[in-house]
Amino acid sequence: MKIGKVYLVGAGPGDYKLVTLKGLELVKKCDVVVYDRLSSPEILNNTKDGCEFIYVGKKSGNHTMKQYDINKLLVEKAKEGKEVVRLKGGDPYVFGRGGEEGEYLFNEGIDFEVVPGITSAIGGLCYGGIPITNRGYNTSFHIITGHLKDEKDELDFTNLAKLDGTLVFLMGMKNLERICEELIKNGKNIDTPVAIIHWATYPNQQVITGKLSNITEEVKKHKITSPSLIVVGEVVKLREKLNFQERKPLFGKNIIITRPETQEEGITNSILSLGGNPISIPSIEIKDIWPNSELMEAIDDITEYSYIVFTSVNGVKIFMKGLDYRSYDVRKLGNIKVVAIGSATADSLKERGIIADIIPKRYIAEDIYDELSSILDKNDRILIPRSKNARSYLVDELSNICEVKEIHTYYTESAKNNKDILLNTLNNQEIDYITFTSSSTVKGVIDLLGKDNIDLIKVINKVSIGPITSDTMNKYGLNVDLEAEKYNVEGIIKSILLEEDKSNEFNK
Ligand code: SAH
Repeated sequence: MKIGKVYLVGAGPGDYKLVTLKGLELVKKCDVVVYDRLSSPEILNNTKDGCEFIYVGKKSGNHTMKQYDINKLLVEKAKEGKEVVRLKGGDPYVFGRGGEEGEYLFNEGIDFEVVPGITSAIGGLCYGGIPITNRGYNTSFHIITGHLKDEKDELDFTNLAKLDGTLVFLMGMKNLERICEELIKNGKNIDTPVAIIHWATYPNQQVITGKLSNITEEVKKHKITSPSLIVVGEVVKLREKLNFQERKPLFGKNIIITRPETQEEGITNSILSLGGNPISIPSIEIKDIWPNSELMEAIDDITEYSYIVFTSVNGVKIFMKGLDYRSYDVRKLGNIKVVAIGSATADSLKERGIIADIIPKRYIAEDIYDELSSILDKNDRILIPRSKNARSYLVDELSNICEVKEIHTYYTESAKNNKDILLNTLNNQEIDYITFTSSSTVKGVIDLLGKDNIDLIKVINKVSIGPITSDTMNKYGLNVDLEAEKYNVEGIIKSILLEEDKSNEFNK
């Protein structure tokens, strides 16, 4: 039998976009991923169907899988003929035990390759606003483990204290006090700047700065623990100017996204690029109504219709699936006018080769009616493939003018499995905003919380995508703190940015 291959891949320091193209390519095609805590979970969303995930990191309270067992696991999976990605935080060879895994694979005759990654010791500092070298500041840098194999072993503080280069300690938080004391005792200036970068490059990154003489106290005060980088050197001062990450407008803001899992990518990416922390807790699940004989019938008779109205991206997706299922393509719709409720729906049509004829000004059913009512006559026939949970308004009103065929192509259900995650998040984390992109997401959240827990979101800024969603929020006793001016995801983000601007002005 063919023997597989193992790739030791550096995942980068955290922000999942910092993985290399080569690393991502391998993750996309491998059969097994073996990963631990310090490799970003988002990378795992890229694997092919059926890929096996094996977590070998520390679970709270439990021990990490022993290195020997990990080595054996890699060999075992390769011998099953699998392509294995061993994903490691940062760079596989920077205190990552990549060398040991490679040696073991070599000894066992297993083919392997190593893909370097951005180490936290350099990339993590960068996101903390600290360049590891800077002309005129230092001529070297030194990456040091703060955690020795044997407790009796000792770092050579006599020599470390003499170095002028930037010192970066990894795995050093338990020994921080000792590291500072020894550096001072061995002659390093007590005023040498020090920075601690916690969860570097992640949306919850936290940095504190001080001097060798007081950083331990600062760390205690801010309760900062592992994983953190300890940076000692003059370059820390440059943070004041080079700290681009924390200057992003949503840095430090925790924003709950309640959209269904299949639709949260756009809003999540926008928040991440603005430096915020998107916390995706879908409050609803979308269930396709499929197979769908009613839809099939409508598609077979599609040339009898003069308009199709799409009121969501999902409505487009399922309709097109039906068209494909009947072995038709978009040419079949050649004589039909197509209406899209908003920009996202229009975009998803465009991806499938259809340019919407009508997109109303405001992205709501009332505006679709306004646009259509002036151009329809009684001979028109309209097809509306949409959610079973939709309001009856549009179908009712248009039916007064001409024949309307509504077909339910999906429905939404509250995502009950996320109840505990939502409650835990609200109870344990400081949340700045919670976003609602439809009435269903509001109902979903109310369902998950239960009436008794509604107070948990009373103090959080609640953001609505538009007036219909706002009405539903009011109906359930929730305040609408912000409402998007344009009824789409960009509108939501814009309203949050405006709110942040206002509170920054206020705090000045
Ligand atoms: N191979 C990894 C390092 C593994 S050792 C790399 O190249 O980055 C693990 C230590 O790295 C942690 O204890 C911590 O000190 C540091 N570390 C890794 N990722 C980090 C992050 N995102 N933020 C802060 N420290 C990090």
